[in-house]
Amino acid sequence: MAIYVFGHTTPDSDSIVGAISLAYLKKQLGEETIPTRQGEVNPETTFILDKFGYEAPELKTSYAGESVYLIDFMERSQSPKDIDEATILGIVDHHKLGDLTTATPLEMWVRPVGCSNTIVKQMFDFYDIEIPKDLAGMMTCAILSDTVIFKSPTCTKEDTKACKELAQIAGIEDYKALGMEMFIVKSDVLSATKRELVLRDFKDFNMGGKKIGVGQLEVVDLSVFDDMKDELFSEMQKLKEEGDRDSILLMLTDIMQEGTQLLVLTDDNSKIEEAFGVKLENNQVWLPKVMSRKKQIIPFLEKVF
Ligand code: MG
Ligand code: MG
Ligand code: MG
Repeated sequence: MAIYVFGHTTPDSDSIVGAISLAYLKKQLGEETIPTRQGEVNPETTFILDKFGYEAPELKTSYAGESVYLIDFMERSQSPKDIDEATILGIVDHHKLGDLTTATPLEMWVRPVGCSNTIVKQMFDFYDIEIPKDLAGMMTCAILSDTVIFKSPTCTKEDTKACKELAQIAGIEDYKALGMEMFIVKSDVLSATKRELVLRDFKDFNMGGKKIGVGQLEVVDLSVFDDMKDELFSEMQKLKEEGDRDSILLMLTDIMQEGTQLLVLTDDNSKIEEAFGVKLENNQVWLPKVMSRKKQIIPFLEKVF
């Protein structure tokens, strides 16, 4: 029977490439795996797939009765709706412990590194399985994306090591230049609708019974957002109401200045101000050095909610 391998809702490059790389590894180990995805492929991931000649995994949002591996998430809020009716065989992830549980024992590869594909690389090494050249190229890109070309505070020595080794397998000489090329693709925010932008890299969290949505856009120059903040706020307002969310935060991250302009719509501004020790002005604040949602935003929100 087929086993599906997939990442979180609103998949990013780590989730898509991770589904492909983990499914490939498991196949070499004799399992009938198929990589899938829970949502649309974003422009950065499309760039990566095109560059290395891969097709996007098939779209599949329901998994009742199936056996699955999860990669790059273990939160119920980022899972398919019927995840409780699936058998989770294993989880490969680099996030905080989530709220999913299982009825049977499972395989867990969870490590505090900057990218799930770093862990998949370590799994390839563990099982002594060769990584195809183009797959290694995609995994290189996934690590460069998740670690923001090694600038994110989530980046570890294991990530840089895995990335360099993968780049070598892929025959990529200047992987940092490839990373910049990727982030320039990512910075093209003008060809998308404002709603698409808010949802491009968006995650919901359950904090103390409240639904908190946090989106992030990483660009090489924040000025691309200068004329669209009002429209972004109005889409955030709609999503807040539609999804019955307590708060919506949008991180506009400048990867060159290494900081984040945080846009906030919430039922209680003082909670957010307390979380980050700041004052919001027009529902915004500049957070220098902040680049990581999982390490520099979510833990502080968890504390106040
Ligand atoms: Mg991810
Ligand atoms: Mg990831
Ligand atoms: Mg990210």
